[in-house]
Amino acid sequence: MQAYQASSTTEKSYSLESWQGGYKSLKQEYDYWIEDIEGEIPPDLSGTLFRNGPGLLDINEQQIHHPFDGDGMISKITFTDGRAHFRNRFVQTEAYIKEQKAGKILYRGVFGTQKPGGMLTNIFNFKLKNIANTNVIYWGGKLLALWEGAEPHILDPITLETLGKEYFNNVLSEGEAFSAHPHFDPSCAMDGGNPCMVNFSITPGLSTTIKVFELDLSGKVIRKHAHFVPGFCFIHDFVITENYCVFFQNPVKFNPIPFALGMRGAGECIKFDPNQPTRAIVIPRNPKNQEIKILEMQSGFVFHHANAFEKAGEIVIDSICYANLPEVEPGSDFRQTDFDALSPGQLWRFHLNLEQQTVQGKLLEARSCEFPSLHPELVTRSHRYLYLGAAHSETGNAPLQAFIKVDVETGEKLLWSAAPQGFTGEPIFVPRPNATNEDDGWVLGLVYDSQHHRSDVVILDAKNLTVIAKLHLQHHIPYGLHGNFVNQVFLG
Ligand code: FE
Repeated sequence: MQAYQASSTTEKSYSLESWQGGYKSLKQEYDYWIEDIEGEIPPDLSGTLFRNGPGLLDINEQQIHHPFDGDGMISKITFTDGRAHFRNRFVQTEAYIKEQKAGKILYRGVFGTQKPGGMLTNIFNFKLKNIANTNVIYWGGKLLALWEGAEPHILDPITLETLGKEYFNNVLSEGEAFSAHPHFDPSCAMDGGNPCMVNFSITPGLSTTIKVFELDLSGKVIRKHAHFVPGFCFIHDFVITENYCVFFQNPVKFNPIPFALGMRGAGECIKFDPNQPTRAIVIPRNPKNQEIKILEMQSGFVFHHANAFEKAGEIVIDSICYANLPEVEPGSDFRQTDFDALSPGQLWRFHLNLEQQTVQGKLLEARSCEFPSLHPELVTRSHRYLYLGAAHSETGNAPLQAFIKVDVETGEKLLWSAAPQGFTGEPIFVPRPNATNEDDGWVLGLVYDSQHHRSDVVILDAKNLTVIAKLHLQHHIPYGLHGNFVNQVFLG
């Protein structure tokens, strides 16, 4: 593997204006075969890429305060016989339907979107939107749009029509949280080597309840346990190993008063506290062994983990860490983000020794990066390659404009950059059918092309991170969050 050339950091690799174009709403719903293609779609790339993210950044020209408050829109790219089909639909949440009908903002958002009218209309109004905008998974024969604050929405995998809400046979109650970051154990020892899905929910408060759910292939909840941990928790993602779930309790303080008074969104009341350590909460997956361990480590903030596995008596975890958490200020406009003023997310490796109660951290990649992805069969196992969205420049903080591949064994890296006009997000690694090498497959990503105000579906060769094909869509897709690839072809 060749190392990439270090790039100059004296000139910006982007303009704020170009970046802002990717945060325009996409109001139209499309359904078409993609015809404008550079290169060729590999004929053995077969299946469906589902992606979720905020499709609307305004409600009838009333701007929302933060993209995380934007209504969930699913994009679906179906690959079959060397062709690709595109479709997008908004998740028809109760709030989406009501707000579109009313033509105005009716709900408060977690990240600061307020109903017009200021403090008096927002005071003690705790009704939040379940905006279904964070992830989309296919499990148990159902396509589910996930948002961490409430129950999933069920969608038709062919039409993307919203069919209702999922309670997993009454395991969840109405409005109960179900995180947007499930992890898929490809071979669960407790289930005779069958795959299972592991997810969690957080009920925050002065002390926090963490619930763990494990679901079999049919979508049935087969294990469920709840734990109480001291302090407020802001936890977006977790990791699983063969025997454990690990949660990083970020060092934050929550002051609910401005939220209750209608002055701030709940997400704006979270303050990072660098004087507190981060705590790794280690919960056994086996419900018969429920002794949890809490290990203190260096202060930092984590949204996303890449993977974890057990090795030589330790738990090894790769995560994206920030030196601190940027606060969402009430009067601020996210479109004017000063990237230079924020700390970059960086890839770290942590070794947790449960016997000695110690955590050791090591920086793997200093370049600003996010949205880690890996071979799906290596979740809970030792991996060699990670794929991430990354900044174009090697140092500093900037929007994601590139994809990188990191070889965690040798430290070598490869970069594919869409700068200066292109902006990236989460890459998804798709193994080639019958491949034997870990990096034999494709990296799929959506790239916003600000020059043409449209998005491309980019297919990279995962081995050398070069472009195989660029599929030009007829429109843009606002910067999204998470998605998944499944081998099924859903075309009606
Ligand atoms: Fe996430």
